[in-house]
Amino acid sequence: MMLLEEWIRKYGTVKDGDVLKVDSFLNHQMDVSLFDKMAKEWKRLFAGSEINKILTIEASGIGIACIAALEFGCPAVFAKKNKTRNIAGEVYSAKVKSFTHGTTYDVIVSRDFLGPDDKLLIIDDFLANGAALEGLLDIAAQAGAEVTGAGIAIEKVFQHGGDRIRSRGVRVESLARIKAFGPDGSIEFMH
Ligand code: 5GP
Repeated sequence: MMLLEEWIRKYGTVKDGDVLKVDSFLNHQMDVSLFDKMAKEWKRLFAGSEINKILTIEASGIGIACIAALEFGCPAVFAKKNKTRNIAGEVYSAKVKSFTHGTTYDVIVSRDFLGPDDKLLIIDDFLANGAALEGLLDIAAQAGAEVTGAGIAIEKVFQHGGDRIRSRGVRVESLARIKAFGPDGSIEFMH
């Protein structure tokens, strides 16, 4: 998606540890008009596919997931980072290793909001090593929900999470795919 690439080139900055900062339009301040165009692009890509729920992970996925939900005409559910003790039986849960913080945390979704009738589009801001997406796939599997596909804003292709998840047969559509970061902070896209 050319517009997203343009925004990344204009406003993105590359930090140590292969982290791309896009706080001015995606991760802190949110360019909702850009989100709307991203949602329309996912809608075009997944046209004809059955989707009745969007699943994402807090916090950065929530904004884009809401706009996508509006476009698909369905609810959005986010996996919560669990801070309280798990109440066995009431939630689906998965462990996720955070790329940006290096720690492992639990995410949970209430059994009330996911089940075997659901056909999910998983939405997230970044795909790096794939841990966040794998956690959400794990939760979907526990719920017996079908995963129609995943819509990602920015995939860092060189971290290979996307390869691993696609090799499991999951359709992953990333709107901007980054091949490499240059030593000067430049960003090389893959088309
Ligand atoms: P993964 O689990 O695929 O390794 O990483 C995905 C998660 O880590 C995303 O939900 C995102 O919040 C965060 N993340 C991974 N790489 C980046 C990055 O380069 N920049 C930002 N801002 N977040 C990232």
